[in-house]
Amino acid sequence: MSGKKDLQTELSPNDYKVFQGLQKKWRCKLCEQEFYVESLPGAISYNSVLKLRSSWGMKIKPVSPALLYQKVHVCVFCLQFFEFQLEKEEKDLKKGPKPASSASMKK
Ligand SMILES: [Zn+2]
Repeated sequence: MSGKKDLQTELSPNDYKVFQGLQKKWRCKLCEQEFYVESLPGAISYNSVLKLRSSWGMKIKPVSPALLYQKVHVCVFCLQFFEFQLEKEEKDLKKGPKPASSASMKK
């Protein structure tokens, strides 16, 4: 007497999907490793990826402008670099030209 149902109960439905290759995998645009979709929380413009790479002194191949504004996916590890970059950009924006509100103070 052999237990035939053992194999089915060992795999959860999600494991079974992975086993069959049904689960989607995407490549992180920065480190170029493959991850399951749920491990890629970041959607960022390709332009940001290129900017970050050039800030590391990497050579950037010219790409078409349409591609620059396409959203690409990055993994959790790479996302932290962009959080740092976005913070920096926000600070730069605040340093920029002030709105002309001080002029209306004087009457
Ligand atoms: Zn990555």
